[in-house]
Amino acid sequence: MSLLPVISLGLLASQASACPGLAKRQSVNQTIVREERDWAYEASYDWGRLRPEYELCQTGTQQSPIPLRLDQGLSRNHIPHFDYPTDVTGDFYNWGFGPAMALSHPEDDWTTLPSMTFDEGGVNETVYLASWHIHAPADHTVAADRSKAEMHFVHVDADGHERVVLAFRVDPGNAPSTFFSNVPEYTTFNDTTQRSIDGINVNQALNEVQMFNDFWTYRGSLTSPPCREGMRWYLARQILFVSDTQMQDILRVCTYSARAEQEVWGHQINQ
Ligand SMILES: [Zn+2]
Repeated sequence: MSLLPVISLGLLASQASACPGLAKRQSVNQTIVREERDWAYEASYDWGRLRPEYELCQTGTQQSPIPLRLDQGLSRNHIPHFDYPTDVTGDFYNWGFGPAMALSHPEDDWTTLPSMTFDEGGVNETVYLASWHIHAPADHTVAADRSKAEMHFVHVDADGHERVVLAFRVDPGNAPSTFFSNVPEYTTFNDTTQRSIDGINVNQALNEVQMFNDFWTYRGSLTSPPCREGMRWYLARQILFVSDTQMQDILRVCTYSARAEQEVWGHQINQ
């Protein structure tokens, strides 16, 4: 299997996301097309100077990630209600920085994906779980503590645009995680193959953080160029604990993928 021709950066700019987003769905023959990135996490403080299209990374008022604190309290607004099926199918791969999965859905129809509803400005909004991926170390800190990894459940609107990210902090604890026990063997960060998987239960991840019953939420952005805003972020107060072995298995296939923390500005934390 050979790599497909590299798609031009311009074409991918709107898809390259936060989070790896949807570009990875453009794949055939079980080989992933990776966009050529002109940015690096190690230099995330300067993304805004790389290209005019990345200006928001420097000037945005709702950039992610931000430091969160216990004394900010937890949110009583925007409470998420989940309608996730027991089993989902999709493609499992490495997004270049860690494990990832894109969920299967009919072409151009996102509304069959697991859904989540929340209140935004007095209106019920529904979004759909399109993919998940892992960063290491964590993007968000709480009380200056940074977890070893952070998992992002990326939700899109009915048109497929990224809208909500559920963030799970992942750290070693006393017992294995059921959710991570059921993901297949990982591929490494330089492996571009993907495999189809059936029967992943995304509810298990929610269960392991008490269904996001306690959380922070804020208005934020994609955490990689072009740093587009208009996202709503949720960070669970509960940490998703894994065994030492599971933690090592995750870290083994991750590369450094945390953006520098941003200044709090127009984020309206928990409001
Ligand atoms: Zn992410």
